[in-house]
Amino acid sequence: MRCRICGGKPIIYMPHHRLALCKEDFIRWFENYTQKTIKEFRMFSKEDRILVAVSGGKDSLALWLVLRKLGYEADGFYLHLGIGEYSERSKEKVLNFAHRVGAQVHIVDLKEEAAGIPELKEVSSRETCSLCGLVKRYYFNKVAKDKGYNVVATGHNLDDEASSLLANVINWNMKYLGRKYPVLKEEEGFVRKVKPFCRFTEKETALYSLLMGIDFIEEECPFSEDASSIFFKEILNSIEERSPGTKMRFYLDYLRKVYPIFKKEEKRDLKRCKICGEPSPSEICPVCRLKERSLSLKGS
Ligand code: SF4
Ligand code: ZN
Repeated sequence: MRCRICGGKPIIYMPHHRLALCKEDFIRWFENYTQKTIKEFRMFSKEDRILVAVSGGKDSLALWLVLRKLGYEADGFYLHLGIGEYSERSKEKVLNFAHRVGAQVHIVDLKEEAAGIPELKEVSSRETCSLCGLVKRYYFNKVAKDKGYNVVATGHNLDDEASSLLANVINWNMKYLGRKYPVLKEEEGFVRKVKPFCRFTEKETALYSLLMGIDFIEEECPFSEDASSIFFKEILNSIEERSPGTKMRFYLDYLRKVYPIFKKEEKRDLKRCKICGEPSPSEICPVCRLKERSLSLKGS
């Protein structure tokens, strides 16, 4: 097998694209393909102000780098989740990387806002990752608005998207499926949300990060073992092994053929939270309720 562009020695073969590439051509392809995704899904333009939600992991840092290289105005946002050493180390990685890309990074410390994820879990009936997801979505949106960004970009890759799609198809979670798209347009109280890496596999983002010398946090969040997403990723990987290209087909066919049907199902009836003013399904939003309950922890 040879690199399709230069005929040199390939370092990767991507069966879903029927494409083998050498190191230099892979880097170029990866960046151009990100641009292609941004354009095809009309995610944003050079006029937009983009806030990249960075966790310190390979995907979000790679996304930040690519967007900067492509000439977009992209700053970082790091939410310190208060998950012990793991959060401390990932914050370090983010700060160092911000320096490398010469961009601004906004930081919010959840412990200063309310309490860390492990403490909030004590006052919530949600699973840890579902609670964490709720808090992240709230702050990504709020901080973007407060700081004058109109787009929030996250580093979700194809494996993330396809596995969460599978989990929600199995449970026929219609509400979720109606919002499962790599661009969610801005609406009252919400900035636009985009996922420019949604067509890259985990293997591809990992290779790009490695080749670009991105110093990311390699250890997993201690709660990730509970994450059911890992289970669904494993299922998809074993299907992929037997039938290469299935993962990509599953996701892209969903976007093309099924999403337009589910989209109609989705109706959101949101009020404004009495405390923080953010969009909320109830008088007081779930995050403000968590904050209130976390006060009991501080009192005890
Ligand atoms: Fe949050 Fe769960 Fe991810 Fe840890 S694994 S950062 S708790 S969503
Ligand atoms: Zn609120």
